[in-house]
Amino acid sequence: MYVSLDPPADRYITGKYQVSVPGRRDKVLLPLAFCRECGQEYIVVARSTSTTTAPSYAARQDQDAGGGNDVNGYLYVSDDHPWPADPIEAQRLPDSWWSVGDDGAGQVLSRFRDKLPQEKWIDAAGRETAPGEGLRAWYVQAPFRFCLRCRTSYEEPRSKDFAKLATFAAEGRSSAVTLVSGSVVHGLESQHGLDPQARKLLTFVDNRQDASLQAGHFNDFARWPRCGRPCTAPPNRRVRRACATTPSPNASPRCWTCR
Ligand SMILES: [Zn+2]
Repeated sequence: MYVSLDPPADRYITGKYQVSVPGRRDKVLLPLAFCRECGQEYIVVARSTSTTTAPSYAARQDQDAGGGNDVNGYLYVSDDHPWPADPIEAQRLPDSWWSVGDDGAGQVLSRFRDKLPQEKWIDAAGRETAPGEGLRAWYVQAPFRFCLRCRTSYEEPRSKDFAKLATFAAEGRSSAVTLVSGSVVHGLESQHGLDPQARKLLTFVDNRQDASLQAGHFNDFARWPRCGRPCTAPPNRRVRRACATTPSPNASPRCWTCR
């Protein structure tokens, strides 16, 4: 997923890899990643500095850059939930980031002061501009330490950002397997004259770990398309019952949760 550096309501959005908005080479497109807890989007960038030109932001292909490289980072853009001038007063900082000083006022711990989100103003080409011009955003360095919207924080900053932020590119395979397997199972149900025991979906993987992961994935998702009507089981019992039930080859084409 790629977006232009415009306000969220006006930004250009595409799922195809492109470096600029079609017909507008002056407007860069940058990849998005999403908080795994709340879904807040972050623009994945590499920030470059120079003594002769203004700092600029470019697409970062290595989206899982953990390890404290101050060039890599993320841009937070939000009209409805902007980052406040006093995040302690606004209760937007994780509790582990601040303490109460001798004067009774909250203060950011010294080791986190240079990790706070930095307000930036950026033009459509990705260059920093004067305050008030272009897009207002907040830059945070990689690795990702906490979500600016939901405050979910990560005490092991050197862990992979993949576990904290999701991208459509990284999620592609499991999503594709869900769609393809669901389509195949649905197609098998409508095959007249085919022995029920012959209605099987067989997949191949090249290692044991992936086989185990895929088996769990199929248990979770591939049985759902059997139903074809709204499931009547309580939501908190659907997956558990579906996974625990042994299928009958002569079963009617309904999901194993409802049956
Ligand atoms: Zn979040």
